[in-house]
Amino acid sequence: ESALVWFRRDLRVQDHAALYHALKSARRVWCVFVLDRDILDPLLARGLKADRRVEFILDSLRELDAALRALTDCTEGGRGGLIVRHAAAREEIPRLASQLHVQAVYTNHDDEPAALARDAKVRGALADAGIAFHTGKDHVIFERREVMTGAGGAYSVFTPYKNAWLKKVDDFYLKAYPVERYMDALAPWPDGMTAEGIPSLAQIGFAPTNLHELRLPTGMSGGQALLDDFLQRIDEYGHARDFPAVKGPSYLSVHLRFGTVSIRELARVARERMLAGSTGAGVWLSELIWRDFYHQVMHHHPHVVESAFKPEYDAIRWEHGKHADALFAAWCEGRTGYPLVDAAMAQINQTGYMHNRLRMVTASFLTKDLGIDWRRGEAYFADHLIDFDLAANNGGWQWASSSGCDAQPYFRIFNPVSQSEKFDPQGKFIKRYLPQLADLPPASIHAPWLASPLELAASKVELGKTYPRPVVQHDEARARTLERYKVVKR
Ligand code: FAD
Repeated sequence: ESALVWFRRDLRVQDHAALYHALKSARRVWCVFVLDRDILDPLLARGLKADRRVEFILDSLRELDAALRALTDCTEGGRGGLIVRHAAAREEIPRLASQLHVQAVYTNHDDEPAALARDAKVRGALADAGIAFHTGKDHVIFERREVMTGAGGAYSVFTPYKNAWLKKVDDFYLKAYPVERYMDALAPWPDGMTAEGIPSLAQIGFAPTNLHELRLPTGMSGGQALLDDFLQRIDEYGHARDFPAVKGPSYLSVHLRFGTVSIRELARVARERMLAGSTGAGVWLSELIWRDFYHQVMHHHPHVVESAFKPEYDAIRWEHGKHADALFAAWCEGRTGYPLVDAAMAQINQTGYMHNRLRMVTASFLTKDLGIDWRRGEAYFADHLIDFDLAANNGGWQWASSSGCDAQPYFRIFNPVSQSEKFDPQGKFIKRYLPQLADLPPASIHAPWLASPLELAASKVELGKTYPRPVVQHDEARARTLERYKVVKR
């Protein structure tokens, strides 16, 4: 028996469900990653040539390839390691499986609608060739229908979901797949198979980004380094996580996205620490449960990808036209005149990451201060976040716009100035991204238009020149939003 393991959002060798099942059932196992042209070509067509995610993936593939080579006793240049193809996966996987004469292809679930549609095509083509397609859970602790209400329905409120999740979880669900025990089945490539190697960015049409300047460690070793670092601070997570200037969160989201860390390992250590009395670990585990929660929301309610979870919210009339487009551009480019919002947008634009508190603040600002459809903000985040995850991003946006399940009530509208005073009291985060405001005193940095002319002169801030005036007045915008959302009550 021989098998092919298709890697997707699981770029690691340790604790890997599909790899484990393949190694256990077949005598010869090969591994493949497809740089899927169905995903990459549309990015290029939209002019997104510099994409940190593509660079992150290529880096991580190099490490994965080296790890597989080491395990196959096959050095660089030898015929083994990861097979990497730049093609449409829906065609390439069946082609390669036939070429290798495998009996089965193994892969981990990817529950995004587009991925499910692709997998259905692959399953069909493999079946035509008499090849089995085995798929299973790897990316989350509980998926699909694993955590349901007593009445058998899907949860749409987080707290009861979390309670049910915590009740169900035990060592069984968190234990690692012992892949190491079965590595003997990893096989060198068969005769006739050509080594194309891992392509460079340029070979697949992309341009370099600033990923390496960000010192964001990639691959399995990067994920491990970030985890080790975070475990030193996990006890403080509960309060440190809310302040963007503080190193509070784990920064593991991109590694969870591409599976360079195992969710089981993270949930296991969080649960162990929580049971040993760490409040911070308990709060962090809750965040990992939010991740599962939004994945199951997308599974049970795939309409959220395009429309509001609560259909009555689709009756809201968002701002359109030239003025709205100009406001949207100001938001994207960090020129709203609200320093916390602008610094946050500078963070995503310069690094591909944005602190969770700021994702909430900027999303609320776009929908409730500028009156712009959450889908436009969601799409901007999808293009720019290195950790972009359809379920979490959609969940976050629908939370902020109040249209989601268990969302913030529509009349709760973040005040961008008080959020700034509360979560960046000294303006440290703002100054990091908006150096032109660096000399403003903390009391004025949150709302420079309220600073005295003397203060502005002393700190060399010229409103409208070195820093924009606010594009909207929050109080007026708030009133407009309450009016706009009235349709929801009808
Ligand atoms: P930590 O605080 O260390 O949290 C650990 C992990 O828990 C995260 O890596 C993530 O996997 C998970 N997590 C934390 N908060 C959430 C949440 N609210 N929902 C789901 N999972 C969560 N997260 C993404 O991974 N991808 C996205 O595209 C994304 N878009 C978002 C958009 C908006 C508008 C909002 C409000 C939130 C979004 N989030 C998204 C959730 C959250 O902001 C990020 O997961 C978090 O900031 C990542 O940083 P971290 O790894 O340091 O997080």
